[in-house]
Amino acid sequence: MTELTHLTLAEARDLLAKGETSARELTAAHVKAIEGAGELNALITQTPEKALTMADASDERRRKGEVGAMEGLPIAIKDLFCTEGVLTTAGSHILDGFKPNYESSVTANLWDAGAVMLGKLNMDEFAMGSANITSYYGNVRNPWTPEGADKPLVPGGSSGGSAAVVAARVAMAATGTDTGGSIRQPASFCGIVGLKPTYGRCSRWGIVAFASSLDQAGPMTRSVRDAAIMLGAMAGHDPKDSTSVNVPVPDYEAALTGDIRGLRIGVPAEYRMEGMPEEIERLWQEGITWLKAAGAEIVDISLPHTKYALPTYYIVAPAEASSNLARYDGVRYGLRVEGESLDEMYENTRGEGFGAEVKRRVLIGTYVLSAGYYDAYYNKARQVRTLILQDFQDAYQKVDAILTPTAPSAAFAVGENMDDPVQMYLNDIFTVPVNLAGLPGISVPAGLSAGGLPLGLQIIGRAFDEETLLRVAGVLEEAAGFDALPPFCGKGA
Ligand code: GLN
Repeated sequence: MTELTHLTLAEARDLLAKGETSARELTAAHVKAIEGAGELNALITQTPEKALTMADASDERRRKGEVGAMEGLPIAIKDLFCTEGVLTTAGSHILDGFKPNYESSVTANLWDAGAVMLGKLNMDEFAMGSANITSYYGNVRNPWTPEGADKPLVPGGSSGGSAAVVAARVAMAATGTDTGGSIRQPASFCGIVGLKPTYGRCSRWGIVAFASSLDQAGPMTRSVRDAAIMLGAMAGHDPKDSTSVNVPVPDYEAALTGDIRGLRIGVPAEYRMEGMPEEIERLWQEGITWLKAAGAEIVDISLPHTKYALPTYYIVAPAEASSNLARYDGVRYGLRVEGESLDEMYENTRGEGFGAEVKRRVLIGTYVLSAGYYDAYYNKARQVRTLILQDFQDAYQKVDAILTPTAPSAAFAVGENMDDPVQMYLNDIFTVPVNLAGLPGISVPAGLSAGGLPLGLQIIGRAFDEETLLRVAGVLEEAAGFDALPPFCGKGA
């Protein structure tokens, strides 16, 4: 029989349906794979007992004929999602010991669909980062790090733990969150599929907030079909999140028809960045050729405000973060470092509890929201954000989806891009505009770099048209035929 940890969600679902495996057997194989994957440092909390209990309950439901969309499938959860009674840290020291007494809506939906939780995944602190090097719990190692390399490669960020476990066959799938690229960029760096849904598609309730107008949860999987299955289970209207949109959740898997004949695919001129590595440009061209061969029409488009996306993001996101993170004061959650006065206690707690990147963002955010600079920075950024959205709206008059690279490079080694935050921020150049416009985007592994590392292509869709997005992604996946395995692969069964 195929190694259980190498199955996709769809394959495991079929084996379970045929009675050829059980949730317990699948879960036990993944628990074992996690035990052997310590060197990745991808999990902050392992929950093997909870996993086996959930698996048994799933097998029991199946015996009674109750089978949810994710029935018996073992997945892992980014540590930004509150999980009832299970440590939730957001990768930060300041949330030490925080065990929520509630469950996030997205994870609750997944458990209702029958999924099994293996544990909580390492991530950049408060989801701020592109390399998973800002976590209080240490760096995550990319499973694609070549054997014998002097420095490990980064898995991307902020959902670096999620991408690493899925790529390394340690979890069958994982949740991620994406504020400026944190699902798609690590997916690209680790050779998996990562989907950021339309803003409002998945509830943000119970997810530790970074930048509330940008944050969105999504699936990280090993196939486009799996992304469709998992998104269907995660999505849905939630009265507890006023920004969650009340539109029906379609059958995403049914959208994978493989037929994109007549679809118009836009290629934005402004994404052809100066200094972009030749191999990224080549892969993009290949993607264009594949979609054309499948019957799509390729249309040159312009998104003229693209060059303002990063500066706009790095005003809006820190502004919202500085406000969201004000709640961590040593009184209500986690860490408390005493002081002589209440003010000193706040200062000590926040001074010790937050890492350098989080402090940088809080300072930037506080500055751009301050009385003297609010109009010059924050309000200006909001206006530019509208122009970026209008660019996309104009483009979608002419096209049905847009094809771009996901990231400007393959995974880099720990230590690179580290002394210059702006260099690090450039990682998100192709992903950030999508969050600013609230659109859905997906990264599909499409090829290998000269150094043998995975590279992703991104498809950007119309708001709430994840179906077309997935359909095009499925065709791209098929044409690319990416089947390389990382040097580190979990041993489960
Ligand atoms: N890398 C970006 C940042 O550091 C995006 C992070 C994210 O999407 N959560 O803000």
